[in-house]
Amino acid sequence: MTPMQQEKVSCPYCGEIIEVLLNDEEAGQHYIEDCQVCCRPITFSLSLGFDGQLLVSVHDENDAF
Ligand SMILES: [Zn+2]
Repeated sequence: MTPMQQEKVSCPYCGEIIEVLLNDEEAGQHYIEDCQVCCRPITFSLSLGFDGQLLVSVHDENDAF
């Protein structure tokens, strides 16, 4: 069983705090999920920190990677 990590992020559009469940295996990936509050597409970008903890950052759809 893969442990899931719960993180809180704030929506880049409306600023609302959203809880997301992260999976270690998703490190290095990007995915898009609609905000539960304003329904706009948020890009989540997942990376692994030095201590092996999963870090998540959010971008709006106009952000360039
Ligand atoms: Zn929002």
